[in-house]
Amino acid sequence: MKYALVTGGSRGIGKAICLKIAEMGYTVIINYRNNDQEANDTRNQIIAQGGNAELLKFDVSEPEQIKASIENWKSTHTDQHIEILVNNAGIRKDGLIMWMKDEEWNDVISTNLNSFFLITRMLVTDMLVKRYGRIVNVVSLSGIKGLPGQTNYSAAKGGVIAASKALAQEIAKKNVTVNCVAPGFIKTDMTKELDENQLKQMIPMNRFGKAEEVAEVVAFLASEKASYITGEVISVNGGLYT
Ligand code: NAP
Repeated sequence: MKYALVTGGSRGIGKAICLKIAEMGYTVIINYRNNDQEANDTRNQIIAQGGNAELLKFDVSEPEQIKASIENWKSTHTDQHIEILVNNAGIRKDGLIMWMKDEEWNDVISTNLNSFFLITRMLVTDMLVKRYGRIVNVVSLSGIKGLPGQTNYSAAKGGVIAASKALAQEIAKKNVTVNCVAPGFIKTDMTKELDENQLKQMIPMNRFGKAEEVAEVVAFLASEKASYITGEVISVNGGLYT
């Protein structure tokens, strides 16, 4: 069995990524934080399409939970390893910096940035030993260009982009690639309170994107076909200037 771990796989972009990677023949380990119902729905959809999936519930902002859950997975799958890691789980807590609370900064950094470090560190060694691996990080337009009201989120996503470029060079020789996908405005729970009719006017394609449109690019970067691409950031944003 080949395994892929997708963080934040219960809803939105992560759910679409889980379904797509399952189609590639991987058993998908669906991570999530709270939403048992949606996580089960992702798993059921994968099984209905003839694939395999497991749930692995842990909070990516909690170092102890990451460590315990991944160690436990490894101890129950001694002959297997995770070949694909998609760091997708993310939150935003927007606000102007002068009113931003410590917890709004820290929660966004720990969920979006520290999780990348902690989870990748636990899984990369096996990839290096096997001389094959794919790490794909879901970042954001905000991490490339910066967006007002998102100093925390832009810092986290920009941090993942820079770290990915550094890591890509560290491990390229071992056939392990690290790339980022930067969505613009995608229709998910994260953007449901935004005014699409107003915001779409600044998007050349004149619409928000679909989770599946992001998942296609993630799946490509996670496949063997993307063998000579590493340290890259691919935008999926309908032509929005970055
Ligand atoms: P979403 O619909 O809000 O879904 C978030 C997912 O992440 C859920 O599966 C959620 O699990 C999980 N999650 C959140 N915090 C977690 C934690 N601490 N531990 C484990 N899982 C956690 O978000 P989305 O729009 O699909 O976003 C996915 C990624 O794309 C994020 O990194 C986001 O920053 C990025 N992105 C999104 C957009 C957009 O327009 N939607 C644009 C640019 C970038 P539960 O269901 O258990 O809560």
